[in-house]
Amino acid sequence: MCTWSASQVERAVITMLDSYGRRIDYMRVSVTDKCNLRCRYCMPEGVEILPMSDLLTMEEITAVCRQAAGLGIEKIKITGGEPLVRRGVPDLVGMLKAIPGIRQVTMTTNGLLLSKYLPSLKEAGLDAVNISLDTLNRENYQQITGKDQLETVLSSIHKAVDAGLPVKINAVLLHGINDSEWPRLLALAREYPLDVRFIEMMPIGAGAAFESVSNVLLLTKIREKYPALVKDERIHGNGPAVYYRIPGFMGSVGLISALHDKFCSRCNRIRMTATGDLKACLCYGTSVNIRETLRSQGETAAGHLLSQVILSKPEAHCFEEKNRISETKKMISIGG
Ligand code: SAM
Ligand code: SF4
Repeated sequence: MCTWSASQVERAVITMLDSYGRRIDYMRVSVTDKCNLRCRYCMPEGVEILPMSDLLTMEEITAVCRQAAGLGIEKIKITGGEPLVRRGVPDLVGMLKAIPGIRQVTMTTNGLLLSKYLPSLKEAGLDAVNISLDTLNRENYQQITGKDQLETVLSSIHKAVDAGLPVKINAVLLHGINDSEWPRLLALAREYPLDVRFIEMMPIGAGAAFESVSNVLLLTKIREKYPALVKDERIHGNGPAVYYRIPGFMGSVGLISALHDKFCSRCNRIRMTATGDLKACLCYGTSVNIRETLRSQGETAAGHLLSQVILSKPEAHCFEEKNRISETKKMISIGG
């Protein structure tokens, strides 16, 4: 007879599978559509900002996450826009960490304000941080992000590592701008105990104007330079990155290849925008807004909506067929 411990039974009961049998245990939660950078593939100049009154409050975000935890969500990524431009994010981390069933709260940030908030984020229990950095060249940084802030980000990376926070660097390569920089970016994982991940550009929002740099080709180049590269089977994060180790490197290299290595069969996530739009897949414009349900019918009704969104998750994205992509929002308002 199978004997399960009480905690195993509890987890099995509240683990939610979508209609394709995928276990959905990860939610990306955007807290703002504002940003202090203007990355050209994410938030080019001129993008309109939502009024504050449209955003979920931190308490409302916590209420949704509590319901999500009841459905089996164990890991939450705080994202944006730039999450740290919104006041109260360290408190939000603390509130999310206090939810029974939430095992991990992490954040993705451009790093500009990270040094300032690092102590309070650590104290609130943040488990790890992803820092977006596409280039180590000052001019390129300014060209890509619109600001001369490379040193600020590098300083944040050092401080986060020194503070003992697990760090991942997220880099998007752009043809003819920073695509030759991968060896330097990768070398960060040799110099520091952090993972460097290359994310293929997805044809969403302003990103649709860029041709994606293939991670398949990138892997070939990395292998040529480092023939001793081996697959790293350890679990590093929440999602679809495939990791490799290079002898002598402290961290690993991760490839997130939405286009050239379609990972939909392993997808484990849902998303919520800062206004409460629940999204089951990045590719499609279909979303359900939870804000009014939460405000007028309460938390349990919101939880019901969440479960419907999980069940409605499509089998796969359609990034390879541009005319079928129905998402028209910018990445800045989805949260990556
Ligand atoms: N501001 C934070 C940051 O930069 O990490 C969080 C939000 S940002 C939208 C999250 C991630 O999405 C960043 O690593 C960014 O490079 C990535 N991103 C934005 N647009 C993208 C696109 N079209 N394709 C792939 N990644 C994209
Ligand atoms: Fe801002 Fe992050 Fe988008 Fe860059 S990628 S514009 S930092 S939200």
